[in-house]
Amino acid sequence: MKKVDVLIVGGGPAGLAAAVELYRKNIKNILIVERENHLGGILKQCIHDGFGLTRFGETLSGPEYAKRFIDQVEELQIPYLTDAAVTGISGDKVVTVVSRNGLEKYQAKAVILTMGCRERTRGALGIPGERPAGVFTAGVAQSYINLHNTMVGKEVVILAPATSG
Ligand SMILES: Cc1cc2nc3c(=O)[nH]c(=O)nc-3n(C[C@H](O)[C@H](O)[C@H](O)COP(=O)(O)OP(=O)(O)OC[C@H]3O[C@@H](n4cnc5c(N)ncnc54)[C@H](O)[C@@H]3O)c2cc1C
Repeated sequence: MKKVDVLIVGGGPAGLAAAVELYRKNIKNILIVERENHLGGILKQCIHDGFGLTRFGETLSGPEYAKRFIDQVEELQIPYLTDAAVTGISGDKVVTVVSRNGLEKYQAKAVILTMGCRERTRGALGIPGERPAGVFTAGVAQSYINLHNTMVGKEVVILAPATSG
């Protein structure tokens, strides 16, 4: 079993920022595990700008903002795995990772969970039948358009809960 001081689950901006901060505090035996084939998390598909004003004092797109952190991780040579999903964490911090290398286990002293949030699909909400086919979550629609260059439709209705205030 491989040993790491800190295993970070998820290579989105939170996981990358955590890794950089740990490294600067001299905790260097780190591993970031990301299930997708690129680091960056949801920001890969947020191609509009407006990110980075607080941290970098300039307006960046999501991918540009994520790249700032990815570059730091690369420069510091912080180890990471992509195409690798964490499928289990035991009470004594043994982390199971599934990737093309097969099933591997890591004994960590600490585990940081930075898996972001997940939208629930109509399947997860238990809406049956074919009638809701063509109903997408915002994240899926954004992914089709911004990452896969595919329109979800021409006539679109956006349904969102009303906010107060
Ligand atoms: C559709 C959509 C649009 C958004 N637009 C904006 C916006 O315009 N502005 C804004 O500020 N915020 C926006 N957000 C919020 C955005 O999620 C956060 O700003 C930011 O991406 C959160 O970073 P994070 O690292 O916490 O999570 P994420 O970016 O979601 O990263 C989490 C990572 O963990 C990985 N992961 C999850 N489970 C596992 C596992 N078991 N094993 C390995 N890896 C795993 C995921 O693949 C992902 O890469 C949006 C979110 C969504 C869903």
